[in-house]
Formats: sequence, C-alpha cells, structure tokens
Amino acid sequence: MLANLTQPLTSYALVDLDAVEHNVRAIHAHTGPEVALIAVVKANAYGHGAIPIARAALAAGASRLAVARVDEGIQLRRAGLDAPILILGYAIPAEADAIARHDLSPAVTRVEVAQALSERAQALGRTLRVHVKVDTGMGRFGLLPDEVLPFLARISALPALQVEGIFTHFAASDSPDQSFTHQQLGAFEQVLAAIRAAGYSIPIRHAANSAAALDVPAAHFDAVRIGIAMYGLAPSDEVEPAISLRPALSLHSRIARLRTLPAGSSVGYGRSHICHSPTRVALIPFGYGDGYHRILSNQGHVLIGGQRVPLIGRVSMDQITADVAALDAVQEDDDVVLLGTQGSQRISAEEIARLAGTVNYEVTTSLLARLPRVYRRGGAVVEVARLAEP
Ligand SMILES: *Cc1c(COP(=O)(O)O)cnc(C)c1O
Repeated sequence: MLANLTQPLTSYALVDLDAVEHNVRAIHAHTGPEVALIAVVKANAYGHGAIPIARAALAAGASRLAVARVDEGIQLRRAGLDAPILILGYAIPAEADAIARHDLSPAVTRVEVAQALSERAQALGRTLRVHVKVDTGMGRFGLLPDEVLPFLARISALPALQVEGIFTHFAASDSPDQSFTHQQLGAFEQVLAAIRAAGYSIPIRHAANSAAALDVPAAHFDAVRIGIAMYGLAPSDEVEPAISLRPALSLHSRIARLRTLPAGSSVGYGRSHICHSPTRVALIPFGYGDGYHRILSNQGHVLIGGQRVPLIGRVSMDQITADVAALDAVQEDDDVVLLGTQGSQRISAEEIARLAGTVNYEVTTSLLARLPRVYRRGGAVVEVARLAEP
C-alpha cells in the first residue's frame, strides 16, 4: 500500500497520523473536554515533523500549539497554522519584533523583554498574549514564586500586552513518587491564590506535561501541555501510562547489499567485528547521519523477514550491517525495520533508548533532516517530506 510513494526511498521514518490523532483524543477523553490541550511540537515535533503533527493534533482536538524557540513558531505560522502558539523557552528583547509580527505568545519572566514586546506590538497596532512562567522547583527558567506579583505589577501597565496565561513545569512528574510534584503543585497554587487576592485575573493556568496529564488530575487546571504522549510514547519507564497510547513513528530501510564474508573478515570502521566463520551480512543504508545512535554498534537489532537480527560492526554515518545467517530466505531489497513492528516482532524506542543510555524522547528527536518522513493516514500515504524532490 505504501509501495508507490516509498519505492524511491531507501530509508525513511513512517509517521502514523491516525496514531497521533488517537493519542490526542485519548488524552482529551482522560482529562475531560473542559481542559484545553496544548500540543507540544518543539524540536520538529520530537523528530516527527512539526507541521503535519501540528495539523493532526489540531484536527483531533488540541486548541493550541507550543514550541521552544521563536523560529519554530514562525515555521508553523508560515505553514498557515493560525492557532495560538506558545513559546515555552526564553525569548530575548531582539526577538520582540518577530514575535509580534507572527503573533506568537512567549513565556515572559523579564521586564525588559515584556517592554520590548509591548512596544513592537503597539507599533503594529495589535495586542500580544503572553504567559508568565513560574519556577516552582525545576530550577531552570521562570520567576521564583515571590517574584511573580512584583513582575505582574510592572508589566500589567504595558499597553499592548495581555497576560493570557501563567504556568509552571514539573521536574519529576514521570516518577512513581509524586511527592515533589505535589510540592510544586502546592507552590503554584499559592502563587495563583496570591494573584487572585491582588485582583489579577489570568484566564489560562497550566502546569501538566504528559506525565502529569496522565497521572496527576489535580495538575490539569485550564490546559495541559502534551508532548511525548501525543507521539504514543510513555513519559518514563517507571510508570505505566493510564491510557492506551499508540506509537506514531517507525523506522524503515531495505537491504542494499547481501553477501557472505569469508571467515577472518572484519566489518566496518575500527574492525570491531571479526567474522569467525563465513557470515552472511546485510548492508542497510541507515546510520548516525540519519539519527541512529552510534552507540548501538554491535549491540542493536533490526527486524528482517519478521525476525530479529543483530547488528555487527560499527554504526557509521550512512550504513549499518547486520548478521543475517539465521534467516533462511533473505534477499536484496527486503524491508528492514529499525524501530517498530514486523510480523510478531517489535523494537521499541524504549529498547533503543536503554541501549543508547538515553530516553525515548531523544531516540525520536535525534532523527535528522536527511531522513525522509512519510505520513500515513487511513492506510494511505498522504505526504512525504524529504530534503529534495527527485
Ligand atoms: C517539552 C515540554 C513539555 C512537554 O513535555 P512531555 O513530557 O513531552 O509531555 C511541556 N512543558 C514544557 C515547558 C516543555 O518544555
């Protein structure tokens, strides 16, 4: 069914938009419809492709988007997305003009940034919606709780800013022990109470990432910021997600060359694998230049013919090699799955993350621009995003 569009591709990431939409709907059913969903599509939607994912998330019920950087927001605006876009990360005064022109909603914590934003927005004759970031225990970005009221007092007089939101971010909501999350929640609620008492009204309060959206109902407030769960991945190995998620991404390639190396041959850079007997080796055009971690050298597995086969030798920039001696019928051009399912076998992002000493987030976010993204909906390919059309 994918044949026509994927035929000219040696390797690609397949993104199942039905899975993304299923996950967004399942999360929304879990939080309840009164909680708005902010789809987090930073870092090219964790490697899945920001624009198609943003569209799918909005179609499935998300009402807002979030990214980390101003450029990411501009990319979405240029693609015609007109939903509110929150910039989660730090913006500098020099970015105020771009933020105002593209009607982005930055997190604010500095008076000078807020002033620059208001000035630029006023010059364009518009009002910019901003969200105040509060650091309740992450120790990174945000105002400390007792800085919030003085900050609001200074920026509320700015003519072209509307404080639309206030938010915080959890440091350990993916842990089985939620005591620190509840401590952060308590600190955030105190800030909210102080704001109310001082007569401010900020309509959108948000705190939860995927883990808290799934596990901590008290953290839902007016909106939740959904990243990893939207892609169908669990926020951590330690907690089983409360709902059934469908991983959206799989990685595919094909056997470019098949041959039997004589005993004594070595495979790849550094000669890290020596064939002690004649070995049937499949060459697969996928490497760290696509985002496949080099640490998987001599450790990772791929699926061919519905079976797991081990990688041998180093992962290089453009190629990997697998020992296919255990497979009876294998041919050049056969499909290879590096992540995903084939027959009854499955390689998960979590399996790769464990081997690579990282988290599932980094496995997909590492995928580079060279790797084509193929988007599927309702069993058909609906879009292919690649470096260059042939
Ligand atoms: C990335 C990010 C999220 C999304 O986190 P997930 O664990 O992927 O759901 C939410 N909020 C902020 C501030 C973030 O930076």
